[in-house]
Amino acid sequence: MGNTEIKVLEFELFKNQPQIVHGVFTRDGGTITGAFDSLNIGINSGDELPAIANNRKFISRKMGMKPLIFLNQVHGADIKVLKKDDNDLSENFQPGKETYTADGIITDIKEVFLVIQVADCQSVIFYDPEKEVIANIHSGWRGSIKNILGECVDKMVLGFGCKPENIITGISPSLGPCCAEFVNYKDEIPKSLWQYKIEDKDYFNFWEMSKDQLINKGIKEKHIENMGICTKCNTDIFYSFRGEKTTGRFACVISII
Ligand SMILES: [Zn+2]
Repeated sequence: MGNTEIKVLEFELFKNQPQIVHGVFTRDGGTITGAFDSLNIGINSGDELPAIANNRKFISRKMGMKPLIFLNQVHGADIKVLKKDDNDLSENFQPGKETYTADGIITDIKEVFLVIQVADCQSVIFYDPEKEVIANIHSGWRGSIKNILGECVDKMVLGFGCKPENIITGISPSLGPCCAEFVNYKDEIPKSLWQYKIEDKDYFNFWEMSKDQLINKGIKEKHIENMGICTKCNTDIFYSFRGEKTTGRFACVISII
């Protein structure tokens, strides 16, 4: 910890897309010390707001000084749709601040970064190169149960005319099957999803669930990339609520350029 260099991981499927800039930020490269060390961007983490605002500026700078759209993430299934033809963005937008209450956002607007804040939940990014539409979705276990990923594909199809077979997707570092223990799963997780429970354990494979939810909407398996990094197993690199309780949020971002 305490490394001063900002580190950004990229998905193989996305990094050679000429119209896309994206990245998964690690916790390195910010200015915060202690439990939130160091590039925390989550205002609901309990960390100090000026330091978080500063870290958000670091991310904007790293991404070429383009505006960042943050969501007030509430573990729901609402997805904000921002179309370049509506004037929605200019009316409501506050760069670098939570503009909408939603757990996902889809847009065809260029030069803005869609940001999801992560500490165990999945950030799943989407891109349709034909229609030039992107999305970024926050899918924790509550989002997984609500199939917010499937909802995103539906909205891209209905709202923008995307074809699922053209859409590529990436699943961020998040809670892996090694650490996703749900001792109260009988109360929390519907029986229809118990197929994702690991045999003889109270652990679930939400990575597999996400993959299936995407495939069920027509996304090709080869168009689904999971970094396969468990946040709880890697708290030196990423924030993990399960691993640390008092922890920050790291940023997953995508933009059309
Ligand atoms: Zn793990």
